[in-house]
Amino acid sequence: MSPLLTFLLTIINLQNDLIQKMYILLVGKVLFKPRLPDPIRKDYRKLEIDDLPLMITHEKMDYKELLQAHFKQSGKVLKPVKRRTKSTVSISSVKICPRCDAPADYLYANNGTKGQCWCKVCDFKFNDRHSYRFKMAMHCPHCERLLSQIKERHEFFVYKCANNSCSYYISKLNQLTSDEKEERKTQPEKYKVRYITREFTFDFQPMQERTLEGERIDFTRLHSSPNVVGLILTYHVNYGITARKTAQLMKDVHGLSISHQTVLNYARLAAKAIKPLIDHHPYDLSDQICGDETYIRVLGKWNYLFFFFDAKNKIILSYRLSPNRDTPSAIQAIDDVLVKLGTREEKVNLIVDGNPIYLLAQHFFSKHQIYFDVTQVIGLTNEDPVSTEYRPLKQIIERLNRTFKGGYKPTHGFGSFHGSESHITLFVAYFNFLRKHSALENRTPVDLPMKSGATMPQRWCQLIEQSQQLIIHKNLA
Ligand SMILES: [Zn+2]
Ligand SMILES: [Zn+2]
Repeated sequence: MSPLLTFLLTIINLQNDLIQKMYILLVGKVLFKPRLPDPIRKDYRKLEIDDLPLMITHEKMDYKELLQAHFKQSGKVLKPVKRRTKSTVSISSVKICPRCDAPADYLYANNGTKGQCWCKVCDFKFNDRHSYRFKMAMHCPHCERLLSQIKERHEFFVYKCANNSCSYYISKLNQLTSDEKEERKTQPEKYKVRYITREFTFDFQPMQERTLEGERIDFTRLHSSPNVVGLILTYHVNYGITARKTAQLMKDVHGLSISHQTVLNYARLAAKAIKPLIDHHPYDLSDQICGDETYIRVLGKWNYLFFFFDAKNKIILSYRLSPNRDTPSAIQAIDDVLVKLGTREEKVNLIVDGNPIYLLAQHFFSKHQIYFDVTQVIGLTNEDPVSTEYRPLKQIIERLNRTFKGGYKPTHGFGSFHGSESHITLFVAYFNFLRKHSALENRTPVDLPMKSGATMPQRWCQLIEQSQQLIIHKNLA
């Protein structure tokens, strides 16, 4: 290529670049929008999760009594810990043993700087960063030995059973081939042979009563009548028509001039108004609760939508959107379910895919003495084969996802986190209260008292009205 031609091509490229940038500056849009993919599934990190630990209550003790008992038994006074070097004692934050109230003089810094302490008086190993309100401690479910803390991670502590005669440890060792045993000598981290559990440190108190967060819509202050708002919601949510096309439709069909931003504003307002009804309605629930995660794009980034729903009664119980596919998100989603289920005689069974976060969430709740079963069905949400027992459930999950994607697709991802939350909330309102299900003999999952013969826009308005009534009643109660 001649130098001149190269030079000219470079100029053209630069100009092209400049035009694109100026277009973005002027119009605020990318000239050629890349087509965003649909919600998808990604593989989760595989992780072996052990059984729940045993939670054993350690009775509160009195160190003075224990010291006396020791003296009676041995004829010797139990002496405080001898401090050899400064480094062996770094229990500045610990004043007393949480179990027997022994002063710091009797406490060993068991695990150096990691906060593990050991009380010489009552033989209690504890962590100074934990509160021992319940005096509960985790024990190995296989040998009942108190677990020891081995690692501190960003959101949790790792505990393991250090007992060499633990049945778990022995059976795991026996499963190794001689080659593996050989390799384990040099790369022990490759083989998990001991019982392990995690304790989550993030601040979340489960099963708390939820406050009614909602906004009242004052229709007299809107520029549109309730029926117009109902129409907009019907087009935008029930039929999954984009805000722009809904605005166009309102003009072309109904002769009303409404901007697409107004459509989005009404959607956001309606979502806020209806959310209390979704979250506080006393649902009639079955024992078939399953969970599922879907990925959706928000501002060009993948976000994770955690759905939990009653597969039999077709009711969505949790619809959390999170930037992370992590255990805290799973815990909050499960908490939504537990709060709605309330106290029940029988243990709840949650059916989920193979993602380990649900088992870790189960561990978290067990620490708060909240117990439920988790059935993990590999293949529930992806291409793998699934047993006949769970095939109907798989179809239900796929149908829910298809219904959600139907409304999601034309929006090509969301421009804001709040926008996507509104969209999801309205979808759940539609799914639980307005959408007729063939599996429910063409009834809606929840039968709210509605005026007979009400049109869909009128039904949306009644939903808003009923949610507002709920806020008034709850606040008066
Ligand atoms: Zn103690
Ligand atoms: Zn053990």
